[in-house]
Amino acid sequence: MAVRAAVLPAVDAPLEITGIDLPAPGPGRVRIRLAAAGVCHSDLSLSNGTMRLPVPAVLGHEGSGTVVAVGEGVTHVAPGDDVVLNWAPSCGACPACARDEVWLCANALSGAAEVHARRADDGTDLYPGLNVAAFAEETVVPASCVLPAPDGVPLTDAALLGCAVLTGYGAVHHSAKVRPGESVAVFGVGGVGLAALQSARIAGASTIVAVDVSPEKEELARSAGATEYLVASDTTARQIRALTGKEGVDVSVECAGRAATIRTAWESTRRGGRTTVVGIGGKDQQVTFNALEIFHWGRTLSGCVYGNSAPARDLPVLAEHIRAGRLDPGALVTERIALDGIPAAFDNMLAGKGGRALVVF
Ligand SMILES: [Zn+2]
Ligand SMILES: [Zn+2]
Repeated sequence: MAVRAAVLPAVDAPLEITGIDLPAPGPGRVRIRLAAAGVCHSDLSLSNGTMRLPVPAVLGHEGSGTVVAVGEGVTHVAPGDDVVLNWAPSCGACPACARDEVWLCANALSGAAEVHARRADDGTDLYPGLNVAAFAEETVVPASCVLPAPDGVPLTDAALLGCAVLTGYGAVHHSAKVRPGESVAVFGVGGVGLAALQSARIAGASTIVAVDVSPEKEELARSAGATEYLVASDTTARQIRALTGKEGVDVSVECAGRAATIRTAWESTRRGGRTTVVGIGGKDQQVTFNALEIFHWGRTLSGCVYGNSAPARDLPVLAEHIRAGRLDPGALVTERIALDGIPAAFDNMLAGKGGRALVVF
């Protein structure tokens, strides 16, 4: 029987809400009924071609749900289990996996090139976006994309763990390695930015500055842990230095993926400060530095993939923070929508509005 899904027919084409047919799960695969799926900026980037993966595709990569059926050889989950989707599974065999840098696994997106479903109306092959095709009532994924959902976390909230929370938490704890008492600036108050703000608070950061183009996100940012809120402008770096004894923050976390924001984030740190870039920008975003300033400031600029997280190891840690009341994935959600609300959620993201939109099935 067909299930409803949001299908991207081609790059830059509008999403279509239509029926898809899923096969019974083959060996090593799992069929899941989705509970919730977050709308992430990467879904927008796939739909407009900033990021490229095979199409037509079912997008959605931040999801949670319940196992309906498992294929041969799947033993770590069973029908009826609640699970969180991991869009970047590690192969365990490539050089990155051997170095224990599973977030850089060379084969993480190999599943994206394999047809996982067909359109119910005309039989067209469909690809699973970033592996898991969560913008659908049900999906079939490799067992490596399935993690048991943590106890004590509402299943709809648990969807957020799969991308925004792992990424924002990891940017602060694994990439920037924020220490107690350090000052942190987070650029971009969307889903990942809100998770980064909460994570900076967990790390014991002293001053936590949130920066966004919209003046409307101040309350949201402050409730996530921001002690200061700035509307982005030409003077953002100067304002941040003024808030930190003319020094600049110890750590900047850039969640926008734009050249100008990366440059401002870097300029907002003190001498020797660290900047972690979480945002995914396009090839046209060129960031420039002169050789003298690189020497003089002694700063570090790092990329960050999926929060440099090892999902199977980190999920229980996040769950512990949630149960203790230190982390609240539900607070990232500013809108609960149905599948047909995804195009409007994309528009809001482009306009810089809101935090996470969550599709609730
Ligand atoms: Zn994402
Ligand atoms: Zn690997």
